[in-house]
Amino acid sequence: MSLTAALVYARHGIPVLPVHAPDPRGGCTCDKGVLCPSPGKHPHLRHGLTEASTDPRLIEQWWARWPGANVGLRTGVIMDVADVDSAEGWHGLCHLLGGDLPSGPRVRTGGGGWHFWFAPLGYGNRVRLLPGLDWRGAGGYVVAPPSRHASGGDYRWVLRPGRSLPGGPPALRALIEGPAPQPDHRPIAHPSRYARAALTAEADRVARAPVGTRNDTLNRAAFALGRFVGAGLLDSAEVTRELEDAARFAGLGRAEIRGTLRSGLTAGRRAPFDPELNRHVA
Ligand SMILES: [Zn+2]
Repeated sequence: MSLTAALVYARHGIPVLPVHAPDPRGGCTCDKGVLCPSPGKHPHLRHGLTEASTDPRLIEQWWARWPGANVGLRTGVIMDVADVDSAEGWHGLCHLLGGDLPSGPRVRTGGGGWHFWFAPLGYGNRVRLLPGLDWRGAGGYVVAPPSRHASGGDYRWVLRPGRSLPGGPPALRALIEGPAPQPDHRPIAHPSRYARAALTAEADRVARAPVGTRNDTLNRAAFALGRFVGAGLLDSAEVTRELEDAARFAGLGRAEIRGTLRSGLTAGRRAPFDPELNRHVA
């Protein structure tokens, strides 16, 4: 059942990743079992989120291996998600939206919280945006229906996707945009040199991507480099040319390359790289 759902999400362009499920005997399906600090909520894949994919063949392989996996969805691509886990968070979100609930898709999480879907705002995750409210954006993921929660409940749709996603009103944007404390991150000394190195590394990765991962690798590279373009550290035409050459070398078709490049670059530009925060999405 979760495979069917995963394929539908992927068909709508949402990168999917298999997530560990709660073990019916308690704890998590991962090696830590009952000692797992995050049962049913963390990825199966070694590289976690960065391996999320819309490739149906890859998704089928994952679910053949882990048929009972929960479904994780990468945020910041097709949607951002307001993750509400208390009444306080619910009221805070309503307040930001001028007293209304968001009009878009809504999930009741198995743990008693809610997920509200928005059009991507172009920012990363913000943990504790308000008490009881986390924001999942670029570089984040959520667990989605029909996954199971460690408490025994299921993630269910209250309002299904299908209509257009609401954008964020100014108050919400302003809060997300606000200074996020990053005490452990040192600024990068030479941002433009860093960006050039990233261009070389990403093009190389795309050129050598094995069949089955090529389109996904290209998408990730376009997103990562689009962030440098958004920050004015790389030239859009140059990035396009380099990645096109690399993808053609890897054997991808022109039409596929063009579509993937465009969407990856656009998404990346909306989340410009900030050397002060030293957060490189590789
Ligand atoms: Zn676990």
